[in-house]
Amino acid sequence: MKLCLGARDGRALFSFVGRWLIVCMAAGLPLAAQGWGGRLHMDINYAAARNVPDEMAAWRAYDKVLSKHSIDPDLWKGADPSEGPRHYIEPEHLKGVVFTNLPKSLSALYEKIGKKEPEETGLAPWIIDETLQRLTQVMASSNWLEATAVAAALGHYVADTHQPLHCTKDFDGDWISNRGIHLRWEKEMPAHRWNYKTIQAGPARYVDDPWNVALIWMHAANQEVQPIFKADRAARRQTDNDVVSEKYFDLLWASSKDLFAKQVNQSVTDVSSLWYTAWVNAGKPPIPPPPETIDGKTIFRPGEARRFMKTSFPWTLVVVLGSVAALVLVLGVVKRQKRPLDQVSLGS
Ligand SMILES: [Zn+2]
Repeated sequence: MKLCLGARDGRALFSFVGRWLIVCMAAGLPLAAQGWGGRLHMDINYAAARNVPDEMAAWRAYDKVLSKHSIDPDLWKGADPSEGPRHYIEPEHLKGVVFTNLPKSLSALYEKIGKKEPEETGLAPWIIDETLQRLTQVMASSNWLEATAVAAALGHYVADTHQPLHCTKDFDGDWISNRGIHLRWEKEMPAHRWNYKTIQAGPARYVDDPWNVALIWMHAANQEVQPIFKADRAARRQTDNDVVSEKYFDLLWASSKDLFAKQVNQSVTDVSSLWYTAWVNAGKPPIPPPPETIDGKTIFRPGEARRFMKTSFPWTLVVVLGSVAALVLVLGVVKRQKRPLDQVSLGS
């Protein structure tokens, strides 16, 4: 899909940019630092809404609201510590499990690899699967307000897992001294060099097996981690490690812009394909005009990621209660020993 902007589209984009500015200001986000964490998410959801097949054309009118709320899941992180792991997967923690053959049940995975925290493994494949099912259900029940919120969030999680550094344990290049590359590549580099008009997504299609398709794109993203690190090292060598210089970003962009564009284009294709798949599986319900706005609140209950954990004996609680009991005992003994002295002092 080549996005050619006509007069009508130009007005829509102008309005879209205006909303983007408002959202950025409201969220207190620095405009110069919007990448996959901000501007790219908005671009991807916007382009994905316009990329759905003609039979779902009414969904294209949701482009602005889906774009505006594409960044909501990142904003939920501040109030909900369970939110973070939904945005990534760290296959290096999944020892003994083939990445493209991950169990669909997270508790089954934890049985295989031993007890693990969602913070270590990441939750992205399971959250994408769950959010897609939820989108199908709310579309089928014609709850379009909730469908808008869930679709916007699904677009966010799908886009995140096309960012190669969201698909590795070495997400910030710490292992081999590429430290800081995460933000440099996803935010600072595209802030000045990325152009929405260059998006060229493939056509949206019905996805028979979303679980496997998602694992394949995450595995492919993971394979692009080393090329990003290599581009970073080369740009640093040629700029004497000046990672804030224009020259550094020019060099990084020159050597990784094709990869960057490929991942963004694939994001748009996959987001629009999953929205289309949910709608088909929901029975192709009539799509009404989009809501003016949605509340932007989390679609999850607080702490919901914890439900993925195996229930284990609460050793932490036992240790805390034991420590409190020991402290009370010690204080009681000390008090009993001090009392006669106090009495002697008072009596003299
Ligand atoms: Zn995110």
